[in-house]
Amino acid sequence: MKFAKYLAERIQDLSIEEYREHTVPYKSWKKLNASQLDSLVERTCSQIDAIFRKHWRMNLSKRESMLCCTRVSPAPDPRELLEFADLNKTAIYKICKKWRKQGRVSPELYHTLRNHRNFAFMGSGELTILKIASNSSSLESEECPICLEVPERGVVMACGHWMCWSCLDSLTRVDKINGTINNKLLVVSWRIKCPMCRECNPLRLGARGVFEIS
Ligand SMILES: [Zn+2]
Ligand SMILES: [Zn+2]
Repeated sequence: MKFAKYLAERIQDLSIEEYREHTVPYKSWKKLNASQLDSLVERTCSQIDAIFRKHWRMNLSKRESMLCCTRVSPAPDPRELLEFADLNKTAIYKICKKWRKQGRVSPELYHTLRNHRNFAFMGSGELTILKIASNSSSLESEECPICLEVPERGVVMACGHWMCWSCLDSLTRVDKINGTINNKLLVVSWRIKCPMCRECNPLRLGARGVFEIS
């Protein structure tokens, strides 16, 4: 199936109007006769990102206030939000590739959007937490990428990577800090970079990044 048709069908299935209205207009973009496509794409990404972040907070706020961490169990409905993120990311990727081939956008546009602009819907700690919450990527049997143990508790970093609590503690001495889990994480966040990708201040999602495996 052509992507434009696939996208149109999947969008129709989304129940939240805001998602339907703000998904990348892939089909009309294909025929678009305009200059400054780079900034058009970037502007659209900003809008999509704002919607993603808003609904991400709404998806997680209820559970957060109860548990102060992300449980590996179904959330209200994070799957639609994941779908919204995924469809848009794919549409952006495809349109960037197409326009790049035609020489209409800079060759590194997609890379810049994905890796330097911090758009959460394209790949981030927020996205990983959502995947855990929707069980679409359960970490239940996954090993910590650092110590290779299967942990009971782990923490997702802002870049989307994660590690177990005991690795975090040996890197940062987080358990020595007083305060709530959220405070502890925000304090030690400045002491480390992500061991996988060197992201700075990687624990800035605080307690929202903490997940427990029961
Ligand atoms: Zn570990
Ligand atoms: Zn990372």
